[in-house]
Amino acid sequence: MSMKQAATALSVDEARRRILETCLDRRMPIEQVALEEARLRVAGKDIVAPRDLPPFANSAMDGFALRGADLPSDGTRRLRIAGTRLAGSAHELSIGPGECARITTGALLPAGADTVVIKERVRVEGETAIVQVGETVGAHVRPAAEDFRAGETVVQAGERITFARMAAIASVGLATVEVSCRPRVTLLTTGDELVMPGHTCSLAQIYNSNGYSLSAMLAMSGVRQIAAGATDTGAGFGHLGDDVGRIRDALSAAAEQGDAIITSGGVSVGEADYLPRLVGELGRMHFWKVRMRPGMPFLFGEIGKALVFCLPGNPVSTMATFLALVGPGLAAMQGSRNPLPRMHSAKLASAIRKSHDRTEFLRARVEVDDEGICRAWPLAGQGSAMLRGVVEANGLVVVPESTRELDSGEMVTVMPLPDCP
Ligand code: AMP
Ligand code: MG
Repeated sequence: MSMKQAATALSVDEARRRILETCLDRRMPIEQVALEEARLRVAGKDIVAPRDLPPFANSAMDGFALRGADLPSDGTRRLRIAGTRLAGSAHELSIGPGECARITTGALLPAGADTVVIKERVRVEGETAIVQVGETVGAHVRPAAEDFRAGETVVQAGERITFARMAAIASVGLATVEVSCRPRVTLLTTGDELVMPGHTCSLAQIYNSNGYSLSAMLAMSGVRQIAAGATDTGAGFGHLGDDVGRIRDALSAAAEQGDAIITSGGVSVGEADYLPRLVGELGRMHFWKVRMRPGMPFLFGEIGKALVFCLPGNPVSTMATFLALVGPGLAAMQGSRNPLPRMHSAKLASAIRKSHDRTEFLRARVEVDDEGICRAWPLAGQGSAMLRGVVEANGLVVVPESTRELDSGEMVTVMPLPDCP
């Protein structure tokens, strides 16, 4: 990076702050969708329980329901088995003094009972259950509303619908939810050297990989990828080569159709890097260049009603800028309460040195070691064009701008790669 670039490029935090500010102004409207469609969407309003969960007091175990007052304080106690209560049954059954009922997990507690003794600790002789000293009054009963009470918020507005939240919403009986509309995103790759996998690659050509990594990351971001018209590759994204006219037309068309445009490549200072000029010509550039490595020549702007994120073409630069900058922006458009990337901390497993003033995103394997300590192992193959490091990684260690060296054992911040175990 030259002195001039260093002076104009934004820090990662400042770049993200500006993206979030603009994206918050572009909040998507809210729509109602079937619960099964809501996965990874962002709740548009608080989702409130219309009824208690659990809706009735029930047994947490298979066993015998009885009155706590009947439990023996020493020796054993014989109780008459008055009936059986299976999960799902509400037939008339009440437990009087000296009585009990067989009960299964999740079954409605019979009237009169307040305690369950597990099956394994009860001896049965004909119609009599024999309970021993040592049981606890009130044990193994799940009281009504112990989880959520009617009127309580199950998922707050701005929270993403995770699989666990889907279970909670279903459990309170809601079949539909109000979520932010999906931002419609056009993904366009540039580069005359690129060929789609499955086709013959001649000398000097390489396969298009960013179209695939970006589509995969977009699929986790709650957005809807839209077809790129005549340039569509059939794989969910358009490819434009390095033809300035085609890029101009595709940007204009995408700006008409969608809420955001994401491009890969052509945003640096090379002979065929037309994007900075075209975004300025067709719309407005908010900023160009971020003090990060990989990923410096990132550009953020807008054309018409669409926001434009131009990502550098080196495959790891594409991923790092998406995770650090674009993903948070798309989350903010969906009204996310916490659009920032989730961060962990870990102990560095080996020392690192850095010789530049940019924030470094270092490919690392993060594992809990034998002593239970979370450690980050920086991987070999850190070039921004090299996939090996990122293929083996499950996180990116974020090395701050001013840091030059970190010793083994120092604490670092790690941005997890979203779908890597
Ligand atoms: P650029 O940002 O266009 O200067 O590209 C930088 C590097 O990334 C070049 O080596 C390109 O060949 C490579 N590259 C650009 N786009 C892609 C892509 N879609 N898939 C794989 N590599 C790419
Ligand atoms: Mg290029």
